[in-house]
Amino acid sequence: MSRNEDLFDRACRTIPGGVNSPVRAFRSVGGTPRFIARAAGPHVWDAEGARYIDYIGSWGPAILGHAPAEVIEAVREAALGGLSFGAPTEAEVELAELLVQRVPSIEQVRLVSSGTEATMSAIRLARGYTGRHKIVKFEGCYHGHADSLLVKAGSGLLTFGNPTSAGVPPEFAAHTLVLDYNDQAGVEAAFARFGSEIACVIVEPVAGNMNLVKPAPGFLQALRDQCSRHGALLIFDEVMTGFRVGPQGAQGLYGIRPDLTTLAKVIGGGMPIGAFGGRRDVMGQIAPLGPVYQAGTLSGNPVAVAAGLATLRLLAQPGFYERLEAQTAKLVEGLRAAAAAAGVPFSADHVGGMFGIYFRDTPPASLADVSASDVPAFNRFFHAALARGVMFAPSAFEAGFVSITHDDAVLQETLSAAAEAFRQVR
Ligand code: PMP
Repeated sequence: MSRNEDLFDRACRTIPGGVNSPVRAFRSVGGTPRFIARAAGPHVWDAEGARYIDYIGSWGPAILGHAPAEVIEAVREAALGGLSFGAPTEAEVELAELLVQRVPSIEQVRLVSSGTEATMSAIRLARGYTGRHKIVKFEGCYHGHADSLLVKAGSGLLTFGNPTSAGVPPEFAAHTLVLDYNDQAGVEAAFARFGSEIACVIVEPVAGNMNLVKPAPGFLQALRDQCSRHGALLIFDEVMTGFRVGPQGAQGLYGIRPDLTTLAKVIGGGMPIGAFGGRRDVMGQIAPLGPVYQAGTLSGNPVAVAAGLATLRLLAQPGFYERLEAQTAKLVEGLRAAAAAAGVPFSADHVGGMFGIYFRDTPPASLADVSASDVPAFNRFFHAALARGVMFAPSAFEAGFVSITHDDAVLQETLSAAAEAFRQVR
């Protein structure tokens, strides 16, 4: 048995499925997960000492590459001053100020410890603020694992959700209306019928949890219009896209102002953090100011805040996002060319430092499109690339991430490996 197999075997005895988050288990691609021993820049090394070029980037946070010196130093310094106080700190005020400065729709913000907590709290706040129960989400969008959000439902108009997970009482999900991503007519029909009962629409403004799916022209604006007309709040879940697709997230890129925004991943630079923020009148409804309860023992954790501050400061360097976007564009163009040369039906897309690779002829616009791609071909490609030292996300339904340390040499090495991998797919 190899060391990875040995560790996986051992992990499975004490950890369900051997992992602490399901996708890590390689269930959809098969095989043995790599146990990571360390990481630096664009690379991770597994327990056997094998090095991989990493396009998972901790599922988004590692935008500066792994273990950036300035962030590690900030973490070290903060840790020496104490790990958690359960009392306010100046650093958390600085982080809040920075988020408010950088993202114009955020007038006030509260820190939590994960993306799940951020979206769960934002939904509760929207319901508390509006006094309404129903929420709208889109099939294929993931917003963390709070009960009322674990709903995918079948496709089709006005489908009220059935829980996608065991352990969620149908009553909890009964207020969740699930629509098709990019289906503007579906949104208009839902509001025509239930407008006065809808507390909020929550959306990934660039979907990154059904592979990468871009918003169709006009889709986000239609959400903004319908919410404004019917007194519902628009929540942009920018846990993945925040500070990833551009300096003001997807809302800056597409010019839409949501009422509430959720953040995590990049804003913690790899430490556990999340945030939700937005309109001052809405945020004023949260305890201790208002009746909507929300709290956290480790919220605003000083070590996580230090990592977040150091990360966000580095992201403000001139030209950062232009370079990140340029490197991501080179990657997807190179992958397209390599697939074409190998005669494999393939397309790819990117937004800022996020990308999608699809084993189908054109980029998808919905979960149905993604599902109709050649998943077995992706799985073969994944393993062929992995065997050549390139680690993509282990599922055809996940987006990929590029860091600022993915320089031209790293991209070239990736594309050489990919060219061989595509030939093996065919
Ligand atoms: N929202 C989105 C858009 C996400 O991508 C994720 C995590 N991938 C979450 C929420 C949940 O965040 P966390 O895993 O930190 O709880």
